[in-house]
Amino acid sequence: MRNARVWAGLLGVEKAVVERVEFDDQQGVLVVHARPARGRRSRCGVCGRRCPGYDQGQGRRRWRALDLGTVQAVLEADAPRVRCPAHGVVVAAVPWARHGAGHTRFFDDQVAWLAVTCSKSAVMALMRIAWRTVGAIITRVAADATAGVDQLAGLRRIGIDEISYKRHHRYLTVVVDHDSRRLVWAAPGRDTHTLGRFFDQLGAERSAQITHVSADAADWIADVVAQRCPGAVRCADAFHVVAWATEALDTVRIQAWNDARALARGEPKRSVGRPRADAPPRPGHERARRLRHARYALWKNPENLSEREGDKLAWIAKTDPRLHRAYLLKEGLRHVFAVKGDAGIEALDRWQSWAARCRIPAFVALGRRIRKHRPAIEAALTHELSNALIESTNTKIRLLQRIAFGFHSADALIALAMLALGGLRPALPGRA
Ligand SMILES: [Zn+2]
Repeated sequence: MRNARVWAGLLGVEKAVVERVEFDDQQGVLVVHARPARGRRSRCGVCGRRCPGYDQGQGRRRWRALDLGTVQAVLEADAPRVRCPAHGVVVAAVPWARHGAGHTRFFDDQVAWLAVTCSKSAVMALMRIAWRTVGAIITRVAADATAGVDQLAGLRRIGIDEISYKRHHRYLTVVVDHDSRRLVWAAPGRDTHTLGRFFDQLGAERSAQITHVSADAADWIADVVAQRCPGAVRCADAFHVVAWATEALDTVRIQAWNDARALARGEPKRSVGRPRADAPPRPGHERARRLRHARYALWKNPENLSEREGDKLAWIAKTDPRLHRAYLLKEGLRHVFAVKGDAGIEALDRWQSWAARCRIPAFVALGRRIRKHRPAIEAALTHELSNALIESTNTKIRLLQRIAFGFHSADALIALAMLALGGLRPALPGRA
């Protein structure tokens, strides 16, 4: 029976006996008939406990296995039912597949590995499955990986954030561990109730051991954190504070653009096509056009500016000192978080007095908002919680969101996020 062992190895079936192999001409698949090894028979599919047999269930069934070369392969076996004292009448466990799965464990693991690593279309084409199936597979692989593992053990410094997914303003609340740099929890919703569930799961004792919580300034997060771990230092999230400044800057840019358009309305209309050489200049139109295209130059960090974007900023500095001042205020706030520590706090003092007298309403208001959240912002500067972590988690989850688009449930997105960012991605089958 050396042959059988080769087949078992090829298909990755352990603790099973390969009975025979045949080619199904009709379906064009290789069919490997197998049965669980003696010690693995008659076990509950849910808990794995040995149970008395119940009946033959629906007879023989097939599990899709990894392709052998270019040929699709399936495992075929009896699927009897057992009566488990805890789980009732259930289909008996098989060593090569997860309970309730139509694919082998190797197949599942490879799909999960690919879903984290490759594009959606690559996974579907390579594995010859629908995206919906990918969603079901990664959900059960993630559930399997988290079963029996306490994702919330030893948490000390956490970050809480919300991320949007799909359209129509659907949100996930996510919790990251600043020390292990992993995503540890995610659930649909963004409200006190959702976050409350996280702390319920964590329990009172472990909640009390949390020393730092970083989050954006949303009241619903602050309220729950204050109530559930009152001893923790609350830190603002630099990512969000800088985002506020970017919003304020955009308000100023849109004003400047509207002013230019108002000017443009008084200018002569032109017919379609290249203007004549003696056409009168239209500074309002020209300004509006350039301001519209300056958006990214204003948003970007200066070190990432292209030459053209640098030119746009220089043009703004020359022609619109107020908008340029708004830009410098945004950069100033970013600088506060770049230097951090005492130097950051000093820079924040200077920034606040600058904002207070800048006479740009959007930034005067931002100054007030910063003053309101000053303790949390100062804590962020002093404790130097890795804001880069939240930012990179955010970026990665947004990337996953794009891949996960088309999943019907938030569960599949959460599973994908936990596999990718929670350190749960399985190894490729057959690799250590
Ligand atoms: Zn059971």
